[in-house]
Amino acid sequence: MNHEKTPLAEPADRTTIPPAQQGLSGNPGTGVKRSNPFIWVSWLSKLMAGEKQCEWASWFRSHYIWEKLPSGLDLAKWTADHAQLLRARKAELEAEGFTVYVEDQNSFTLMGETGIEVSGKPDLVAIRGQEAYVEDCKTGTPRHSDHFQVLVYMLALPHVEGPWKGRKLDGRIIYGGTVVDVPASKIDADLRELFRKTVLMIGGPEPAHRAPSWGECRYCDISQADCPERIDIRTEVVKDHGLF
Ligand code: SF4
Repeated sequence: MNHEKTPLAEPADRTTIPPAQQGLSGNPGTGVKRSNPFIWVSWLSKLMAGEKQCEWASWFRSHYIWEKLPSGLDLAKWTADHAQLLRARKAELEAEGFTVYVEDQNSFTLMGETGIEVSGKPDLVAIRGQEAYVEDCKTGTPRHSDHFQVLVYMLALPHVEGPWKGRKLDGRIIYGGTVVDVPASKIDADLRELFRKTVLMIGGPEPAHRAPSWGECRYCDISQADCPERIDIRTEVVKDHGLF
């Protein structure tokens, strides 16, 4: 299972001890300050893709370990479906003569000059001669952030020790039986700058912009104890307007 992408995702050994319960905005929240800002690639990719407007949620996650709200996701089913897709894809690649590296074998952490850590765990890395691919297997609906997630892996892995060090990687996203290519040519100066700015925004000391909305808050795992501006009630439908 790729912990990066699940609601249980939580890096260990990154808290300050003892954990003084530090609420934000003066409230007694559940957040315990991390020793270093820590960011999963999946938190970055949603912001890079413009799928999330509340930057504060990722900023908070990168600076605090908190008591998460239950996600509502059927984690057992998700894990089983994902593992099945991963096994099938691995077998396919091996039959084509690739050497395949899986999940934890591919995990990495980059630390920047300011101490911010960015961590990821690509599902598969496949190498055959001069060819090198990083692949992510998706069981849900395709999203733009899937592309950014793979692009960040392609950007990061050549800096990490392993058979991918110094290599140009192409990317692929596997949606069931459909393979979507993410060519190495997509990594340009704009992508590098977007990555850099997003990391510094959510890993930096200044709280990022908070954008409460029912649409995002209802999927957010940060409770009202940590985010007093959380919106749990849907905006009422306006009927008495006479416009149409
Ligand atoms: S609860 Fe809403 S406003 Fe608060 S961090 Fe989550 S998405 Fe942002």
